[in-house]
Amino acid sequence: MYEVIVEQPFSAAHFLKDYPGKCAQIHGHNYRVQITVEGEALNELGMVVEFEVIKQALKPWIDRFDHGFLNEIPPFDVVQPSAENLAKFFHDEVARALDGTSARVSYVRLFETEKCSAGYRPK
Ligand SMILES: [Zn+2]
Repeated sequence: MYEVIVEQPFSAAHFLKDYPGKCAQIHGHNYRVQITVEGEALNELGMVVEFEVIKQALKPWIDRFDHGFLNEIPPFDVVQPSAENLAKFFHDEVARALDGTSARVSYVRLFETEKCSAGYRPK
């Protein structure tokens, strides 16, 4: 199994609704989203998928979220903007971009800080 990994940073503010602690107050993170894509076969370029395909799938969302307030940006105006939910969201968006290819998103890690992250792994 081959694997490629793309990581993109963005900075954003959020708060966690109903959270019993400091995270209920608005604060910011220098986030990093890390997308892992796997594939058994390589394409005619000798790649699982071009890095650019993953970057382009992320770009509209990174552009929207960067220096934004997540709690006001759909779907996170309704969905809790936790690291877990962000990881699942990015998974779904990149997975859609890979539809019809032999590559699949195997894991997404969403870093809130250097030492704290959440992951989403599809079944
Ligand atoms: Zn936070």
